[in-house]
Amino acid sequence: MVCIDTPMATSPTDDGDELLDQFLSNRGHTVERVGWEQEYNKKQCPDCGGLHDTAATTCSVCGWEPAR
Ligand SMILES: [Zn+2]
Repeated sequence: MVCIDTPMATSPTDDGDELLDQFLSNRGHTVERVGWEQEYNKKQCPDCGGLHDTAATTCSVCGWEPAR
């Protein structure tokens, strides 16, 4: 027997979110980037995908900050 790897089991930082955003955009939805993505105990910038400590308030990579 050979175990079959699921796509989700590869990497948590894959491009799945981008693909989902593109999918939603293609369907005519506007994707509001209002908050951080959560990656385990890190925050992930939804704009560039950069990972930051949970104490971060803005993205030091692209300058994104969450809308309030
Ligand atoms: Zn960023």
